[in-house]
Amino acid sequence: MADKLTPRNQDFNKWYNDLVVMSELADYAPVRGCMVVRPYGTALWENMQQALDKRFKATGHQNALFPSLIPMSFLEKEKHHVEGFSPELAVVTHGGGVKLEEPLVVRPTSETIIGHMMAQWIHSWRDLPMLLNQWCDVVRWEMRTKLFIRTLNFYWQEGHTAHATSGQAMEETMRILDVYTDFAVSEAAVAVVPGRKSESEKFAGAEASYSLEAMMGDKKALQAATSHFFGQNFSRAFDIKYLDKDNTLQNCWTTSWGLSTRFIGAIIMTHGDDNGLVLPPRLAPTQVVVVPIYKSDEEKSKVMKAALRIKAMLQERVRVKLDDREEFSPGWKFNDWELRGVPLRIEVGPKDVDKNTAVLARRDVPGKAGKSLVSQDQIMVVNGVDEMLDTIQAELYQRSLKFHQDNTHEPRSYDEFRQVVEEAWALAWWCGERECEAQIKEETKATTRNIPQDQPGGAGVCIHCGKPAKEKALFARAY
Ligand SMILES: [Zn+2]
Repeated sequence: MADKLTPRNQDFNKWYNDLVVMSELADYAPVRGCMVVRPYGTALWENMQQALDKRFKATGHQNALFPSLIPMSFLEKEKHHVEGFSPELAVVTHGGGVKLEEPLVVRPTSETIIGHMMAQWIHSWRDLPMLLNQWCDVVRWEMRTKLFIRTLNFYWQEGHTAHATSGQAMEETMRILDVYTDFAVSEAAVAVVPGRKSESEKFAGAEASYSLEAMMGDKKALQAATSHFFGQNFSRAFDIKYLDKDNTLQNCWTTSWGLSTRFIGAIIMTHGDDNGLVLPPRLAPTQVVVVPIYKSDEEKSKVMKAALRIKAMLQERVRVKLDDREEFSPGWKFNDWELRGVPLRIEVGPKDVDKNTAVLARRDVPGKAGKSLVSQDQIMVVNGVDEMLDTIQAELYQRSLKFHQDNTHEPRSYDEFRQVVEEAWALAWWCGERECEAQIKEETKATTRNIPQDQPGGAGVCIHCGKPAKEKALFARAY
């Protein structure tokens, strides 16, 4: 196997890039900027998909599948949308050996084609709300790429909904932001700040965009999910209309929202350490690995018997693997599973078999501190391994939250602000003006991440220009 990981405090970027490849989550594709999500990464993504899909369905959404090719003219129907996406488009000009009459765009996102279809499917107020979601991949011609964080081709879900009133569409926008927050906290154990994007940071064509911002291990921010309120921008562009109860033709109000494989990057950079990945138990493809320890054939037969028994008992409740590879030593296996972030390891040696014990080793607490000697009977019962996994899940979240809180400061002057954003987050009163925001970015490399939902109330003066401010914004350097 590969060399040792570069420590995070030495080179966080290298640590991340090497870890993604070494842990076999993803690899570089032969096309520049594209990634291949390997089986281990796909298994993680599938667990994330299930956790999200369950929540989408519980809130009334249905899945659908739209084609990946979109007529160029569709994108041009919404002015801001085409302006925002033009630089990133992949365009198909030829098909079947002939030049196409109209170029087709490989979807960067599907508002336009779904809007076009909604216009044909929605007739009256009875057809509303229309709540659709699509699991698919999209293409955006990014110049600077990084596995999971920003690639030409990535995987995601995009929700698209149409409503009768502005209020209902806004409710949906916020409901999904809550769904994403719940997913981040309960499933991924990642602390996030839900809030509204500034005018200059919002989605191309949206009236308002909302995001989750998460603090990575290097204290840079990562936008982890977004939810957009379109007002009637897309319904006007695509004629998404309905007859209301008075038989009057009205434009719908629409939303869209997405969470992508980028979130895998958030999980890696939130929890990972110098030994590798640390995966939250609820999403980990393998939650428990059993590693048998033996030297002689005699030891092997009794240890394997116990290891198999433990695996058989556990597999009804948890995702468990028995590492029975003969060609590797136990120590090598420990390192290997640590690299892959498996939350809990069970070590069984000949002495354990004699005493009916086993060692539990927590991935999130390295070394001796994370190890405990338990009876094998204890492993079999729900309050053994299962509760341990719940504890790990809860403590990972608490650790992420504490890191986030410890590194979010409220500077009182712009000088202090400049220092803070060198290597942490700043929460500060902000006037909301585009020009002020651009200056802050130029002077400090920090951007507004969002205007958190959770506001102190009252009013203050802008940390940069001193104009009156009604809201506090979150500033940080970001991925
Ligand atoms: Zn200002």
